[in-house]
Amino acid sequence: MEITEIQVDGYEKVVRCQDRESGLHALIAIHDTTLGPALGGMRMWPYASEDEALFDVLRLSRGMTFKSAVAETGLGGGKAVILADPKTAKSRKLFLAMGRFVNSLQGKYITAEDMNIGIADLEIVQEETRFVTGLKRSQGSSGNPSPYTAEGCLIGLRAVAEALDGSSQLADLHVVIQGVGAVGGALAVMLKEEGTRVTVCDINEKRVAELQKEYGFEAVDDDEHLDLECDIYAPCARGAGINDETIPRLNCRAVAGCANNQLLEAQHAEALRQRGILYAPDYVINAGGIINVAVELLPGGYDEEESRRRIARIYDNLKKVFEISRRDDIPTNKAALRLAEDRLGAARQTS
Ligand code: NAD
Repeated sequence: MEITEIQVDGYEKVVRCQDRESGLHALIAIHDTTLGPALGGMRMWPYASEDEALFDVLRLSRGMTFKSAVAETGLGGGKAVILADPKTAKSRKLFLAMGRFVNSLQGKYITAEDMNIGIADLEIVQEETRFVTGLKRSQGSSGNPSPYTAEGCLIGLRAVAEALDGSSQLADLHVVIQGVGAVGGALAVMLKEEGTRVTVCDINEKRVAELQKEYGFEAVDDDEHLDLECDIYAPCARGAGINDETIPRLNCRAVAGCANNQLLEAQHAEALRQRGILYAPDYVINAGGIINVAVELLPGGYDEEESRRRIARIYDNLKKVFEISRRDDIPTNKAALRLAEDRLGAARQTS
């Protein structure tokens, strides 16, 4: 196994692993460990080149630093990518080699699930390193993060409601959810319990039909959901849905959902602001999952009550983001970055 360092300005450590025996070609980026060890998922993707993979791992690890700083997980930002096709390249040998690669960083980087990597893969990785999180609850780990992400989103929506109407009540609002999978589906059910009017939208018609039957939600086609008048539009499917084409169509007062990278480009936060639409930065409102995982690393180990207490802080974090946005007259994505940088700066001064 050959591990080589790649020098990248602004990153603490970026390493490449090439292992002829297993076929592993992977990169790990540790962006910043000011607040703690760098935690971030492991992604497997058939990148066209190493440059493309490097671009991805740098961007994602940096994002994790800010996400964790705002969420106060006590962690830094990192990410791992395996350059391979998940449909054909998965093998025990490959994941054991990946485990050794993760272990070589001696806990400066801690891994978790990400795109195309599941618990079964991480269980193999864990045979070679203890720096793995998000495994099964029965193994003392924090388990499936989705319900916690959904809970965090619900709490975040209360802060959005308060910013809109001065009350954190969700009962009188209409929320349109795009994508009712693991997180969006759970969020829809929780909102219904709050008395919120919920309209669901998903390309999976069977899923929509099931939810409608069980909970009586209204539903809208994916083609039409953006035009529907509502208070909050909650993107809970995929990224890049907020862009030049969709922003003029939005008929809501706020955009707040769990999907990662909702804005196609950072400038789209300003475009939302220009339209008077409040945007809850995705990585602030969807931090419930990572907060839950981080609890696993506390000295006492995983504790669900502690996790819930920490997830509840998403409310205050979003309120702070909205306050900074108003105070400094900047869009909320920049305000979230400012909050993260303030926290990083304060930690650097005391260390
Ligand atoms: P999921 O795969 O369980 O659900 C996604 C749902 O979106 C599916 O039902 C799918 O059919 C639907 N969908 C896909 N494209 C669509 C489209 N164009 N229009 C309407 N529906 C569409 O995924 P999930 O775990 O619920 O995650 C949803 C989003 O939240 C993703 O962007 C994910 O990265 C992000 N996220 C998830 C977590 C977590 O804990 N699961 C944490 C942070 C962020």
